[in-house]
Amino acid sequence: MKYISTRGGSPKLSFSEVLLTGLAPDGGLYLPETYPKFSLDSLKQLREKSYQELALTIFSHFINDIPHHDLKEITYKTYTKDVYSYARPNQDAEQITPTLELDKNLFLLSLSNGPTLAFKDIAMQFLGHIFEYVLNKKNESLNILGATSGDTGSAAEYAMKGKKGVKVFMLSPHKKMSAFQTAQMFSLQDENIFNIAIEGVFDDCQDIVKAVSNDLIFKNKNKIGAVNSINWGRILAQIVYYFKGYFDITASNEELIDVTVPTGNFGNICAGHIARMMGLPIRHLVVATNENDVLDEFFKTGNYAPRSSKKTFHTSSPSMDISKASNFERFIFDLLGREPNELKKLWSEVDQGGSFKLDLESFNRIRDFGFISSSSKHKNRIQLISEYYDKYNVIIDTHTADGIKAALDHFDDNTPMMVLETALPIKFEESIEEAIGKRPDRPEKLKNIELLPQKYEVFNNDVTQVKSFIEENS
Ligand SMILES: *Cc1c(COP(=O)(O)O)cnc(C)c1O
Repeated sequence: MKYISTRGGSPKLSFSEVLLTGLAPDGGLYLPETYPKFSLDSLKQLREKSYQELALTIFSHFINDIPHHDLKEITYKTYTKDVYSYARPNQDAEQITPTLELDKNLFLLSLSNGPTLAFKDIAMQFLGHIFEYVLNKKNESLNILGATSGDTGSAAEYAMKGKKGVKVFMLSPHKKMSAFQTAQMFSLQDENIFNIAIEGVFDDCQDIVKAVSNDLIFKNKNKIGAVNSINWGRILAQIVYYFKGYFDITASNEELIDVTVPTGNFGNICAGHIARMMGLPIRHLVVATNENDVLDEFFKTGNYAPRSSKKTFHTSSPSMDISKASNFERFIFDLLGREPNELKKLWSEVDQGGSFKLDLESFNRIRDFGFISSSSKHKNRIQLISEYYDKYNVIIDTHTADGIKAALDHFDDNTPMMVLETALPIKFEESIEEAIGKRPDRPEKLKNIELLPQKYEVFNNDVTQVKSFIEENS
């Protein structure tokens, strides 16, 4: 299996090469040359598999430059019930991503039982192990530089802590994350983890990362890398749980299901799209957005008009406050019949801060790919959190509530609907309190996390200071 760029102007790479590369040199994103396809018969064999076996089977179709027994070891090390230990009391942690039936034909797929309580752990934990493996084979090391407003940074740090050959330099806006998120990251004492609090906002942190990465001499000398959401390894790891969830809530592979995905950078739902292309019987993929509804507008009108960060709202589902979805290009590439020149025409507008509108023929083709969408507002989320607590005694977080809202907009009694739970409610305690009048109980391990000693640096909004810090510590 080789990987190609959506813009058609880069050499084909193997999996291990793509893993450590961000954007392709031509500015595109990497995708497998073809998607492996499972027949109904091979789906039958997959149905019986454990999460680990399923993951290994799917990974093997996309990775052919890592020996099978090594890939097996990495996979089995990544997905253990001890790592995904925050399952609800009535759920089986052994399943890694267990489902929960809320109502007839309405299911939650619990993706957030990992160490940082958000679905990003599922992919990031895999990257942690496979980065360590590939770097060791190549006898190389990597300094991961990133900016976070909360979820991504903690998932990356918990995945990379203690890994050989990897260091993490994570920038966050000083005093702008919740106390819980801050404690999650800053309480890590591992020698290879560096938290840098910047006197500024999230965009300032992101600008510093861009400035450092654009300095190619510095970047190469200091082996700067990233684990952002365009990383193919993350998408790959996310394909697995669509299969797992499907087998869990259906009795046979003839059944179709609908899936709703709380969406920001389009990484999670892109994995769902690929699972569907591989033959998983998904009828609809429902894109759920919050007030930042650029994608909802696109799927309703064919008009894609990304917004600047100044025009992006701060909402109560903050991990979806995104107005330019970095993985969207992957889906449009497939939608346009994998014609790089067609794609390049559209993105020449997007890359200059502009927008595009699909022609009618391409727009009509969206239906063949199963995509529909909906958006929600703060009021919807709070109301649904309260309603689901009263009706089903289940507390959902604000992002999952965005998902439930969109799912109900498109719910059809005869087709099972699976809503992806992208975070646990204890990550967003203030909103939960607003909805149900109390905070959700924390697991014992996390009760006093805010009181643990914290390790971090505070720097001015200044690229030079960050660069010298990396040089001293890398
Ligand atoms: C990252 C994140 C999302 C958005 O996922 P994408 O893959 O970027 O679409 C949704 N919910 C939560 C809680 C997240 O952390």
